[in-house]
Amino acid sequence: MDVKCIDCSELTGFVHSYPPIFHFGNSESPIALFSINPSESEFKSTSSLPAPFEKWTVTHRKDATPHHIESHLLRQDEYFTTGHHLEGWFGKVEEFLNKIGTHQWGQLSFGLEGRPSNVVHLDIVKCATKDNWSAVPDDEKPKYIANCSRYLISQVARPSLKVLLINGSSVHDALIETFAKHFTFEERHSEMFKTSNGRRCTLYRYVLRGRSGDHQLLLTGTSMRISREKGQFSNPEDREYAATRIQNWINDFV
Ligand SMILES: [Zn+2]
Repeated sequence: MDVKCIDCSELTGFVHSYPPIFHFGNSESPIALFSINPSESEFKSTSSLPAPFEKWTVTHRKDATPHHIESHLLRQDEYFTTGHHLEGWFGKVEEFLNKIGTHQWGQLSFGLEGRPSNVVHLDIVKCATKDNWSAVPDDEKPKYIANCSRYLISQVARPSLKVLLINGSSVHDALIETFAKHFTFEERHSEMFKTSNGRRCTLYRYVLRGRSGDHQLLLTGTSMRISREKGQFSNPEDREYAATRIQNWINDFV
């Protein structure tokens, strides 16, 4: 992983003083949960996520020393075990993960509050943007995704990774497009359910196989974001239903 990568530096919202965020948590986990990208505002809204390079007065990722890089990567590995993480966002996701009990790995968790960690968080785009993803112009979003995809693909190729979880429809669309070049889709079986407030939520289920070997992956998740504190997918019974379907698919797969 190249911390000094500047492939995205010409794009709107790119923040030079932030290193790429490759993952949060245990990078050897059998399960990965995907979101789109980290934004600078997330880091600034909480003292728990300082920009590592800013702290060391490095204003450009190109100037990071081996010490900076090592500390930065360690911070990503230990993100959930230090007690300093973005609670509102990851707490909501963790709650959903905890509803899923698997035969092989037990209850799913990032490893918060001493639970065994078996889920790593991966952003599709590794570069933090100045504002939220929605502020990136539509014609530049695919460029960010394409630039950062070599890191994503190398992470997904890890043989011990078995299940990929989708957090929201925009994550789904970006992953499907990126994976189309690298995987064969052996099964496509998604289903729709109506939430208690009459919205339609898709529960995704795909089985992927790596082009160059026998690495098989289950790609599953929801079109409504499980990270949302409030909103369309906040009803506990809806979330319970979605978690149970995903749990069954994981247990059938492994
Ligand atoms: Zn990038």
